[in-house]
Amino acid sequence: TIGVVVLDQQGQLAVATSTGGKGFERIGRVSDSAMPAGNYANEFAAVSCTGIGEDIIDECLAARIVVRVTDGMQLSGAFQKSFQEAASRNRDFGAIGIDRTGNLAWGKTCDVLLAAYHDGSKIDDTLELPGGVQTT
Ligand code: ASP
Repeated sequence: TIGVVVLDQQGQLAVATSTGGKGFERIGRVSDSAMPAGNYANEFAAVSCTGIGEDIIDECLAARIVVRVTDGMQLSGAFQKSFQEAASRNRDFGAIGIDRTGNLAWGKTCDVLLAAYHDGSKIDDTLELPGGVQTT
């Protein structure tokens, strides 16, 4: 999966998530990447997810985080709360997010998430982003 969250110079947020699927799917399965559960943005935040789509859909993860930010929670707090809730349910996924002031956050319940950050001048792929939540 490739997930991208963007804040442009006009303050507009966007998200895109591309996936080959989790592998060995049932015919007709629709990935979370094609749903608000796995790929969602509004004027407050943008979140992209990867991992087991069924787990992501059960948590409605991207939309849940974005709605929390819309309701006034900080992006890092929304990631923290959503990933803490998921930890007790044995979920297998990761997510990246950005809010309308450019705060970044990421979270993962497993070791599959890699992230890079590009601010127009440099690319940082160390995953030393603020707001990281790891529940493994
Ligand atoms: N979330 C995707 C799916 O379950 C798989 C992935 O992230 O690689 O379809």
